[in-house]
Amino acid sequence: MRRIELARPSIGLQEIVSVTKVLVSKNLAQGKKVKEFENNFSKLVSNRECVAVNSGTSALHLALLSLGIGSGDEVIVPSFTFAATANVVKLVGATPIFVDIDADTFNINPRQIELNITESTKAIIVVHLYGLPANMIEISEIAKKHKLLLIEDAAQAHGAMIGNRPIGAWGDAAAFSFYPTKNITSGEGGMIVLKNSQVARTCRLLRNQGMEVRYQNEIVGYNLRMTDIHAAIGVCQLKKLARINYKRQKNADYLSRRITRFKTPVAPDEFKHVYHQYTLRIDSGRELFIRHLDQLGIGSAIYYPIPVHELPPFRDQVNLPQTKIASEQVVSIPVHPGLNKRALRRIVQAVESFVSE
Ligand SMILES: *Cc1c(COP(=O)(O)O)cnc(C)c1O
Repeated sequence: MRRIELARPSIGLQEIVSVTKVLVSKNLAQGKKVKEFENNFSKLVSNRECVAVNSGTSALHLALLSLGIGSGDEVIVPSFTFAATANVVKLVGATPIFVDIDADTFNINPRQIELNITESTKAIIVVHLYGLPANMIEISEIAKKHKLLLIEDAAQAHGAMIGNRPIGAWGDAAAFSFYPTKNITSGEGGMIVLKNSQVARTCRLLRNQGMEVRYQNEIVGYNLRMTDIHAAIGVCQLKKLARINYKRQKNADYLSRRITRFKTPVAPDEFKHVYHQYTLRIDSGRELFIRHLDQLGIGSAIYYPIPVHELPPFRDQVNLPQTKIASEQVVSIPVHPGLNKRALRRIVQAVESFVSE
């Protein structure tokens, strides 16, 4: 029986043709295709300004730098996330303040944010984990009340919404990733979404050696540019995003209606979940469960087995009980748009037939 992988990018003929056209044109570096990708992406995020870069991590990094976050600043972040969220805080010389998550949604807990605000707090980074929007309604209020910058790590949440307001259009800045496992890919790549056009200009300068006009360097900058080759893939993928997310939601519905043994994902009313991951809680015997799925040819993975605050570069003594439990219980199973009915049935059968000791 064919193995069902946990993740598989949907790359088709359009991407191949589009990349080939760029190669034939010989204009390979940042150019027209990057501009087109930025313009098209902007429509997804209420027409905010978009700046394409070479990764989601670079997008987060430049968001923080362009908003003036640095040494002496505290930045509130969840610990139950990919390390990049906290790495960028350290990279700009600021201090990550790790706070706990909500047990039902796996997203940062607004009450815990408020409890951790000090005189040094400059910003909050929320992560829309697994494709489920964080509680931006409450968190925006908190940011406003305490005059804090709000940054969305939307690496897993392309196309997610709360009500009719898209994820990426809530904060002062947002960062998306186009790594191959994300809902849409450009090979590698990232997008910064900015509320303020001056800040967007700073991002464009930081991306390209501090230049807007060639050889007129205004500030010290990096080279974090996206290539037209990658943007060509991104433009094609963006056209498919609505269909991809619809399929992921359908697959998630199918699984949630049939899985009875474990706690399945929740999405509060008005929160549009785009199921970057479909994540179960296995209260005991997680390792056996993963082996059981593996033996039946089904891929799975743990996002994330070690809370970021416990990783060696951070080693923070803070006690985050919900983060700890989640890291011990979660398992993500396939939900990607390449699954057909037979594959979905196999996944349900495998999950439901697990016998823990
Ligand atoms: C993937 C991811 C990133 C980093 O994106 P890259 O494109 O891999 O640099 C950041 N935060 C979260 C939550 C992610 O899932």
